[in-house]
Amino acid sequence: MVNLLQFDRAGLGDFCEQLGEKRFRATQLFRWIHQRGERDPAAMTDLAKSLRDKLATSAVIEALPVASEQVAADGTIKWLFDVGAGDAIETVFIPEPGRGTLCLSSQAGCAVNCRFCATGHQGFSRNLGTAEILAQLWHAEFELRRRLALAPGERAITNVVMMGMGEPLQNYAALVPALRAMLDDHGYGLSRRRVTVSTSGVVPMIERLRDDCPVALAVSLHAPDDALRDELVPLNRKYPIAELFAACRSYLERAPRDFVTLEYCMLDGVNDSPEQAGALLALVRGDGRAAPGLACKINLIPFNPFPASGLHRSPPERVAAFAAVLQEGGIVTTVRKTRGDDIAAACGQLAGEVQDRTRVAERSVRAVPVRIERRVAAPASRRSGPAPVAPVRSAP
Ligand code: SAH
Ligand code: SF4
Repeated sequence: MVNLLQFDRAGLGDFCEQLGEKRFRATQLFRWIHQRGERDPAAMTDLAKSLRDKLATSAVIEALPVASEQVAADGTIKWLFDVGAGDAIETVFIPEPGRGTLCLSSQAGCAVNCRFCATGHQGFSRNLGTAEILAQLWHAEFELRRRLALAPGERAITNVVMMGMGEPLQNYAALVPALRAMLDDHGYGLSRRRVTVSTSGVVPMIERLRDDCPVALAVSLHAPDDALRDELVPLNRKYPIAELFAACRSYLERAPRDFVTLEYCMLDGVNDSPEQAGALLALVRGDGRAAPGLACKINLIPFNPFPASGLHRSPPERVAAFAAVLQEGGIVTTVRKTRGDDIAAACGQLAGEVQDRTRVAERSVRAVPVRIERRVAAPASRRSGPAPVAPVRSAP
């Protein structure tokens, strides 16, 4: 059985052709799935009977099993989805007046191994398929529509951010069809400005995304220079800041917004001094360099602690002083409000449960001098084979 959630509309057209049906029928089918949340082909009354019959025997619309759901005091919802073989991923819904943002995962674990990130500490298990990325959105949209009793045509999710577990640009092949389904007028109909891909800086894939499916871009910078960024975001050793900024500038030629959002996680005593704010300002303005800077907005994220990080959140006064340097220098700077931290749903706290299948050799290449001890992703007993998904741990 083929899971129809794995296709964008073009892919669904190919599938219809394989079934001996006309391509254009995919549009109706796509609307049933992604606009009405229908799972049963028999209920898709305006589809040709021949297609309905073939779908009944060859296709399913299969969401992910929910392992747990938690609702934070501020209304943030975190779902833990079981993706099999002991892996679970997390999806977060952030309600705000007039907007509903869904934060999606792209991988079980992550191989980039940023020092301050709970997902990175788990290691990498596997890429999610397009169906698993879209199933997060499908579940949230139609579950929330039911709960909020929305009128037909009203949407629960108005914005999507690829900021959950994983590095989306290291799962490019699955990401792009998922983005296309989000943007499709016959799918979720989100504008390119309301879909954001956040990356730690996979330069060649930023360039491809620009050509294939430009959406809003956020780049996790976290340091004003290569020396510190090498330690915090190990991928920087492969793609240093100058290359990253060049890719961002080229991205902006096609992007739906005229700036890149730079994310900067505020770590006490690590990257939060006034001098570092000054260096960041010079970097983005291109002061004193041959190279131009970067048209950007800066989003400061107070570090969200997780067990074993060994790092601390910058005090609010330090964050405010850092923001003031940037703002006085003419760079639009915001401080991200932490949401859902009582259920560990805030940025960088998403850990799900993954079997760390990162190769040992890869890990040693990524090791950095200042690195702290790596947290063991799962108890030893779970390493010997698949185990049931554990419920998400309770609030810290
Ligand atoms: N892999 C992508 C997207 C997922 S991470 C990326 O790195 O951009 C989403 C955002 O959360 C990134 O900006 C990341 O740097 C930030 N983040 C990670 N760990 C964090 C933590 N412990 N506290 C605050 N922000 C964190
Ligand atoms: Fe991966 Fe992003 Fe976490 Fe870095 S911050 S380890 S790229 S998920």
